[in-house]
Amino acid sequence: MLYSIRMRAAKGGSHETGGTHISGAERIVEDTELSTIASELITRALHHAKGQADYINLTIDTVNKDNVIYIKSLPIETHTVNSVEEGHATVTDLLVKSGITPTACNRAIQLLLTLTTNMRGAILLDAVTGKRLDCTNDRGIRVSHMDSIQSNTVLSGKHHMYEALTLASKASSCNGILGELCWSDDPDYVIGYVSCNHTYHRISKMKIPSSPIGGRVFFIQPHMPVEPIIDYLENTDVLVDINHACIK
Ligand code: AMP
Repeated sequence: MLYSIRMRAAKGGSHETGGTHISGAERIVEDTELSTIASELITRALHHAKGQADYINLTIDTVNKDNVIYIKSLPIETHTVNSVEEGHATVTDLLVKSGITPTACNRAIQLLLTLTTNMRGAILLDAVTGKRLDCTNDRGIRVSHMDSIQSNTVLSGKHHMYEALTLASKASSCNGILGELCWSDDPDYVIGYVSCNHTYHRISKMKIPSSPIGGRVFFIQPHMPVEPIIDYLENTDVLVDINHACIK
């Protein structure tokens, strides 16, 4: 039997009571692996660069194998830049080439740069007007119910990139999503990415070192109803084959 297992951890109380988000991760695994993976996720919550969590929530539910969607991961392309400004300019260039307006790109970058606390999820923006489409304020839309088929073999020590690649691949398989922008809230991790034009563009500098604030934005095709997009991101079980993530 397959299970979805999801961990979220906070400090200073639960997320619901205003605690600071520390870490979140999830897997889709066979029942035989469940207790090992539960232990791994708890260890991550206890040893995070943002501090030790005092609230850990672990949710486990069964996955109907017949409803799982299997997809190939986006291929990865790496862009080495010399500064955060160059990183953001590269992002804008890539997004504009895939039909997202400069207005929407600038709004996305400004929204992330002006966050004062981390959201748990992502902002949805109209890819043309740059108008915010979700009504979740500082919570955001959390992409969930996903894993890579190769998690057990490739993830050790490379959580950031492969988990982000899994998330970005699931999001890009969603009808109506034209692109994604992300940089991490992990203070030690300045690499970010944009996914657009069926490629995961890894950008070497997207935020200043030691900044504890990160964020995510999805660019939505104009006039698309957002509810089915949110439902797909939050609830559809997707397994991603990352053997296709050949590094360009
Ligand atoms: P991370 O790359 O995990 O450091 O996350 C960077 C930012 O992306 C976080 O601060 C959140 O705003 C957002 N985020 C993290 N996980 C998710 C998720 N599963 N779905 C949507 N947004 C997320």
